[in-house]
Amino acid sequence: MFSCLSHLECPRCDATYDAFIRQGLCTSCGSPLLARYDLSSVPIRRSALAGRAPDLWRYHELLPVSAPTGIVSLGEGMTPLLAVPRLAESLGLRQLWLKDEGLLPTGSFKARGAAVGVSRARELGVRAMAMPTNGNAGAAWSAYAARAGLDMLVAMPVDAPMITQAETVAAGGRLVLVDGLISDAGRLVSAAVAGSHWVDVGTLKEPYRIEGKKTMGFELAEQLGWRMPDVVVYPTGGGVGLIGIVKGLAELVALGWLAGPLPRMVCVQATGCAPIVRAFEAGAAESQPWPDARTVAFGITVPKALGDFLVLAALYDTDGTAIAVTDEALLADVALVGRLEGLFVCPEGAATVTATRALVESGWIEPDEEVVLLNTGTGLIYPDTVPVNAVTIRPDGDLELPSRVADGSMRP
Ligand SMILES: *Cc1c(COP(=O)(O)O)cnc(C)c1O
Repeated sequence: MFSCLSHLECPRCDATYDAFIRQGLCTSCGSPLLARYDLSSVPIRRSALAGRAPDLWRYHELLPVSAPTGIVSLGEGMTPLLAVPRLAESLGLRQLWLKDEGLLPTGSFKARGAAVGVSRARELGVRAMAMPTNGNAGAAWSAYAARAGLDMLVAMPVDAPMITQAETVAAGGRLVLVDGLISDAGRLVSAAVAGSHWVDVGTLKEPYRIEGKKTMGFELAEQLGWRMPDVVVYPTGGGVGLIGIVKGLAELVALGWLAGPLPRMVCVQATGCAPIVRAFEAGAAESQPWPDARTVAFGITVPKALGDFLVLAALYDTDGTAIAVTDEALLADVALVGRLEGLFVCPEGAATVTATRALVESGWIEPDEEVVLLNTGTGLIYPDTVPVNAVTIRPDGDLELPSRVADGSMRP
């Protein structure tokens, strides 16, 4: 069996749905639906994976696409899990890993959700899709839609990163800029698609994007030699990545491929938009919409996530936590990670560094715990996060060699 998908389930009211026709939200309570698999019918042992191609489709039994011909791929998955010893030392940790999702097609981990979401949508007969996005999801879904021959309409805030706007257009997506936030774009998209053949594929509005994102958890476990880390630190917007990692790891435990306990999940947000952090601190089951949401970490500017209750449940269930960091601090960490490890991370990824530093300082993370940071995208998408303070000299001028200063950086 290529896919062991069995049905869809509502995590709020437990209603079940046929996974072999197109479904949106739970029709009785409005919750997102989750894909469930018949794990007892998975025909392989984990050792069989070793001989498969290094992409996310190596886990096809635990993905919803029913046949190899249904796969729409740009070569996504198996991103490097890099040891970052110099960064670890600066944070006071002994075992720190960074999973670099910036190497995926279109430059962010959104490619995982798009690959699986678009593949499954096409299998189920969808021809046209529309979504609100802060940029990266629109870029990724446009690319995979083009590859699949489907129509894509993307609505993003006017100030979404230029490069994601260009990526969307380059892949033939219809781009609409909204003078507002992703939540405004979301309202416009759902109103526009009502009664048409266009399908709203916004965050958690369909059940398969999360199935792509859960492969971050699968890869993490496999790359660590079928072991859990102690802590996973994740920059959280809509929350699908965090929920997905926990879903993926829980499926591996249920399969007997991995032993518990699950890692403590850390939800990182920016102080300019931290609805889940606020809800976590209040011990609440759901978040409240965040007014005037604003941060340079554009991918996590989500004032109210549809799946907030799932993120919060994942934090409570894993003894995790939620923490907000300032734009100033996370921008300083973009520079620090570059200087110490040669990685140009996105601001969202840098936020996990800032958060980890604070959690080590507070004692929530112990120095000998094994920690995994998710760098969710490449810094190339956000070129303005690094000021280029280069000197300009005339062709006949003198080129002076820089000297090394105490913090390891170079000074001209
Ligand atoms: C979308 C996005 C996030 C947030 O991911 P969610 O799964 O929506 O929480 C983080 N970083 C980047 C770069 C993103 O594009």
